Amino acid sequence: MLEAKKILRKAEDSVEISPDEALILLKITGKDFTALQQTADQICFEKKNNLVSFIINRNINFTNVCYQGCKFCSFSVSNKNKDSFLKTIEEIREDVTEAKNAECTEVCIQGGINPELDFDYYLEILKIVKEIDSNIHTHAFSPQEVFYMSKLYGSSIYDVLKELKKAGLDSMPGTAAEILVDDIRKVICPNKITTSQWIDVIKSAHELGIPTTSTMMYGHIEDLKDRIEHLEILRNIQKETSGFTEFVPLPFVKENPLLSKLTDFPLKPSYGMADLKLFAVARIFLNNYIDNIQCSWVKLGPKFAQVSLYYGVNDFSGTLMEENISKSAGAEFGEYLAPEEMISIIKAAGKKPVQRDTLYKLLKFY
Ligand code: SF4
Repeated sequence: MLEAKKILRKAEDSVEISPDEALILLKITGKDFTALQQTADQICFEKKNNLVSFIINRNINFTNVCYQGCKFCSFSVSNKNKDSFLKTIEEIREDVTEAKNAECTEVCIQGGINPELDFDYYLEILKIVKEIDSNIHTHAFSPQEVFYMSKLYGSSIYDVLKELKKAGLDSMPGTAAEILVDDIRKVICPNKITTSQWIDVIKSAHELGIPTTSTMMYGHIEDLKDRIEHLEILRNIQKETSGFTEFVPLPFVKENPLLSKLTDFPLKPSYGMADLKLFAVARIFLNNYIDNIQCSWVKLGPKFAQVSLYYGVNDFSGTLMEENISKSAGAEFGEYLAPEEMISIIKAAGKKPVQRDTLYKLLKFY
């Protein structure tokens, strides 16, 4: 397709591509697919000098009790469920100490929207981390959680974020984004914050100097246009704030009975060209705005994640240690990948591994 070639040439010349052009790229097949791969890989190579980064971190999920009822979620349960949990501050202290002993530079803390919690609990979590080691970076609380806290605290999003920052919040995961198209959100997560509320939390965080990641959960009922609309929202925010550290495409993991009823889409974990196209298009579309594209080895599996390193991806995410959310949703791939394993996967791909911190400062080359 001549058109695809023209668009790729624009991208190679570092010219911003439009949403319509990105959509054309998401649809290409055949030899144009190879050309797309080469362009994304070349842009990534020039930006990152063949380096692939990873972080030594630990996830802490403090509760799985949640009543938001997102249709895709297999993590949340009611507080009556025998598998429900809510960690005490003492248990969180142990988790953070374990992270420190494992030389984690970051703890990533998220949980369900549990009505038993009060705002002080969230603040306590943040204070505990800094008490144990003020050098550990606290990457915590999704925009959904921050929105909930603003109700608990009876104050604005901005003021809640200010309190969280004061208590030790260093950065936030840009989760709860799913697909930032309200018609889709109404079906898959009707009780979650709307697109504009998500944008409001993220922009407020950036304004306060709290960087965030950006994510997209794809591969359910959305179409390709929705994916591009989502990417465009992220690019526009970044033009304004420069507060995103990375973009993480997250494939929907497993056939889920609730969501299956709403669609004929085959909701099965199967990864292939469509995923690789999305990674490559994200690299091209976000070029010069969001420099880091991360693969989720937990969801994709380490081998497919390794392949993604040739499609514009330059970050292998974290070692993790505890990852309940994807695991509950059916991801087969573990809860821990040792740094040595990551290093060997990256090297086997012909790339240069480097340990980084949350804000992409490079710490150690291998
Ligand atoms: S995705 Fe998050 S907010 Fe939605 S039900 Fe699950 S835990 Fe609750």
